[in-house]
Amino acid sequence: MTSIAIPALTKDLVRVLIDADTIQRRVDELAYQINKEYEGIEESLILVGVLKGSFIFLADLCRKLKIPHVVDFISLSSYGASSQSTGNVRLIMDTRENLQGRHVMIVEDILDSGFTLDYLCRNFKARDPDSLKTVVLLDKPDRRKVNVELDYVGFEIPDVWVVGYGLDYAERYRTLPYIAEMVPVTD
Ligand code: 5GP
Ligand code: MG
Repeated sequence: MTSIAIPALTKDLVRVLIDADTIQRRVDELAYQINKEYEGIEESLILVGVLKGSFIFLADLCRKLKIPHVVDFISLSSYGASSQSTGNVRLIMDTRENLQGRHVMIVEDILDSGFTLDYLCRNFKARDPDSLKTVVLLDKPDRRKVNVELDYVGFEIPDVWVVGYGLDYAERYRTLPYIAEMVPVTD
């Protein structure tokens, strides 16, 4: 087997915050908890990944689930081009599955102000699912503007901009295997 070189940090990547092995171990633990909690469910759990940032986390997590599940996606927009949340969340693309009477789990990359997940939870609850839970890889508690109940959290992180493992900066860095702190270089 050929080994894949870990991409080196570039000028704007300040430091590795969470390395690839640590991420995988935590994803294992989250999957273990979810497998335990949903053990014996008869109808598939619908995993709804919030595009685009959650796609790698969702791909790793769902492959460790032993319970019946289906994968679906939703696309929202809250930031536009800036990196500050406006609280103005728009639905760009809805799920394909009908959520009514189903077990639903929202899979999100990162919780920042909380506006996105708060909007999504309220929107999904109105569709009358049998159950609704949330799994978030990263949580920035210092940045919270609206209280959101989280069921599963990967890591709490400080108030810094992070990229990698699905998360981007202007569409860059999504495929880094680790999560790094980034500060844009302006020169
Ligand atoms: P919230 O609505 O909680 O403020 O924002 C959540 C969304 O903002 C996340 O789904 C993610 O797309 C984006 N976001 C927040 N913080 C970061 C960050 O540090 N890095 C990246 N790449 N996206 C972030
Ligand atoms: Mg997101």
